[in-house]
Amino acid sequence: MALLPVLETARDTLRGTLILPSDDAFASAARPWNLAVEQRPVGVALPADVDDLRTLLRAAADSGAPVAVQPSGHGASGDLAGTVIVRMAAFDELEIDVAAGIARVGSGVRWGAVVEALEGSGWVAPAGTSPVVSVAGYTLGGGHSWFSRTGGLGSDNLRAAWVLRVDGTHDRVDDESDPDLMWALRGAGGVVGIVTALEIDLVRAPAVWGASLTFDASDAERVIRAVRDLAEDAPRSVNVFVDSLRMPDAPEMPPEIRGRSFVTVQVLSVDGPADALVDRVRFSGSVQRELSGPTSPGAVAAASNEPTEPTPGRGASAALSRLDDALISDLLRFREHPDQWPIMGIGMRMLGGALGAPRRPGFASIQGAEWLLHALVPIFPGGPSEPGDASIAGFERVVAPALAPQTVPTFLGPGQTLALCGDADSVERLRTVRDAVDPSGVLHEGRLPR
Ligand SMILES: Cc1cc2nc3c(=O)[nH]c(=O)nc-3n(C[C@H](O)[C@H](O)[C@H](O)COP(=O)(O)OP(=O)(O)OC[C@H]3O[C@@H](n4cnc5c(N)ncnc54)[C@H](O)[C@@H]3O)c2cc1C
Repeated sequence: MALLPVLETARDTLRGTLILPSDDAFASAARPWNLAVEQRPVGVALPADVDDLRTLLRAAADSGAPVAVQPSGHGASGDLAGTVIVRMAAFDELEIDVAAGIARVGSGVRWGAVVEALEGSGWVAPAGTSPVVSVAGYTLGGGHSWFSRTGGLGSDNLRAAWVLRVDGTHDRVDDESDPDLMWALRGAGGVVGIVTALEIDLVRAPAVWGASLTFDASDAERVIRAVRDLAEDAPRSVNVFVDSLRMPDAPEMPPEIRGRSFVTVQVLSVDGPADALVDRVRFSGSVQRELSGPTSPGAVAAASNEPTEPTPGRGASAALSRLDDALISDLLRFREHPDQWPIMGIGMRMLGGALGAPRRPGFASIQGAEWLLHALVPIFPGGPSEPGDASIAGFERVVAPALAPQTVPTFLGPGQTLALCGDADSVERLRTVRDAVDPSGVLHEGRLPR
């Protein structure tokens, strides 16, 4: 049936909203959180309830315009032309069972709300660094957290999900009721159904303690080696992130950091002070700035300076199976080279701990990898809209010899597919699950091209 009449009829049926290209609000509604990515959907829906979602699925089947759930578009891939984008903001329930350490979270809820609700409870959320990423988008894509060495990937914490299938059925799914669907939801969520709510494990954190040590770039090599060596015996209660940053030489920058390079090591323990481990890094260089003491995920999120408003950005990421001395030198030399100015930072996250022993079966797994790296390529106002192709390619060349067999789906960039996140058998299994639940492609193919 012709597209527009089907969408107009659907719009008249919905309790929520369907914004079409002729509407004034369309351009802003169609924009993803990552403003560097352009999207050309044929509609943007804000369903009010499950019946609205059913109407949208029927319209997709009738019109041939697939449904693409995109809570906010931090992970926008630029492949949504011709789709109806569905934003889940109305699905905003949040219930926390503190005694059991379990949360039931609607798929429109962002991590910030969960982190805030848990402050002082003795539990932390298996959340990523951005408070404005949705719990669903993150968890259904694997999700690597501040606390992943302690609690595993976000998807490993997914106990159950309320799923609307393409055939219109809506129920609670867990490992007993539908093990194949649960396996697929843990990392490849968007391709097998619409999740309306999730039941997740929280991470036990009796005493959150943190240390943040900043060193001058001249110490970077020694510092990163010392951090790398911690991985051998760090307990899973300790989580470690390293950021090697070069601030732009731009007038908007505060003078004390303009054009400067430095490396910051962040250690987060869920079980009180980790001074002995931190000392092994502290004495590898000369500390320029240090903060340490009891903290909370809310304070960590506030200090992390992640952008909370839609922002254009590019990046590249890599899961590594090793981080040897030669690779550390190559990475630092690469990032310091003046031609690589578009790469403002390289973040390094220590893996291992609970990540090495997933508790639940799932498509997403980073078992066996040791480090998760990401290169940050911000796009500044007035600059070219797509800087850094050569730098991103250069970063990928530097890390290529140490690449782990698979990475976390939430770390994929535009155009990358789930084939980078699982072996051939897993990807085949995913296709089989999808073919069973969505044989005619009512849901957008997402990162699993048909
Ligand atoms: C500043 C920033 C910081 C980040 N930090 C981290 C981090 O620390 N760790 C990490 O792992 N990732 C991180 N990410 C990546 C982020 O977690 C992913 O891009 C995530 O998918 C984005 O969530 P979103 O709510 O914007 O989802 P969107 O980008 O809007 O959607 C992502 C995909 O999730 C699926 N999906 C979402 N909701 C549903 C649903 N209800 N039903 C079915 N499918 C659904 C769809 O397939 C959709 O395409 C970060 C991204 C940014 C921009």
